[in-house]
Amino acid sequence: MQAVPLTRIDEEKNWQTILAEAVRDGHELLRLLQLEHSELAGQLGGDGDFPVLVPRPFVALMQQGDVRDPLLRQVLGQQEENRQVPGYVTDPLGEQPANVRPGVVHKYHGRVLLIAAGGCAVNCRYCFRRHFPYADNRVGRKQWQEALEYVAADASISEVILSGGDPLLLDDAALARLCGQIADIGHVRRLRIHTRVPVVIPQRLTPALTGMLADSCLQATVVLHVNHPAEIGHELVRRLEPMRRQGVTLLNQSVLLQGVNDDPEVLCQLSEALFAAGVLPYYLHRLDRVQGAHHFALPDERVGELYRYMKEHLPGYLLPRLVCEEAGQPHKTLLMV
Ligand code: SF4
Repeated sequence: MQAVPLTRIDEEKNWQTILAEAVRDGHELLRLLQLEHSELAGQLGGDGDFPVLVPRPFVALMQQGDVRDPLLRQVLGQQEENRQVPGYVTDPLGEQPANVRPGVVHKYHGRVLLIAAGGCAVNCRYCFRRHFPYADNRVGRKQWQEALEYVAADASISEVILSGGDPLLLDDAALARLCGQIADIGHVRRLRIHTRVPVVIPQRLTPALTGMLADSCLQATVVLHVNHPAEIGHELVRRLEPMRRQGVTLLNQSVLLQGVNDDPEVLCQLSEALFAAGVLPYYLHRLDRVQGAHHFALPDERVGELYRYMKEHLPGYLLPRLVCEEAGQPHKTLLMV
């Protein structure tokens, strides 16, 4: 099997162009991977409100001809998503009550989450926010002002998290403006960016973005979302390096996914590959029970087996914390296995 070649042209294009050229059709994705005649072709489907969206650099990391490719499984919409399964709901983390005003989710003490963009560069089929009402959280200039006033009015907030939708879909100028406004709030000391864009479009890690985060008076952390070592391509590693060198803290969170990373060796390789790229494994999430993602769930016993293997085979600093989120809880729940 071969990886799909990423052309030189892709590496030279800017990230906006790469995003505009993303694959938006399951049939095309299968064709690129020479899987158009495989059993997957008959299973295509999924939620029309959450269409297939996959940038081509991510496709280039997949293996041609492999129906079980772990990256493909994360992004290919399938009819199985339409099955209603008891216990799988549209808002598994109960975020809506914490959505205190447009663009602001305030769940935990000391930090607040700003929905900086109403979409992502990739539609991950297991995403717990796949039903999030982004349309109600579209933030214009006035709402941004109100969101920042909310943060300024609560002196207990020391950290602002830009999440999404993916905040790195904002361009560098917009992001710099927003970060500057956050930095002007005296009690905010830390800025955290949760993003999957660099994993699917490494070109998003521009020198301007790196410089802006490194120069900010806020302590900047970028939390990536990588689930499988095959997602850590050469271009991502190359572009993370200056960030790390200039003092931006790099962390990763993963989700345990059936058919993707439910293999103890793969999970250990993921931690090793992240660390080699200067990224510390931070969280390993048990799947949130979101409607349309039941086929990614693992039995609790299997989750325990996988994590115990990791504990036995990795040094402590490469062991992510195994957690789940429970609606209404004031913190993530550490799972003891
Ligand atoms: S990038 Fe993150 S927020 Fe966006 S669909 Fe994927 S998991 Fe969800």
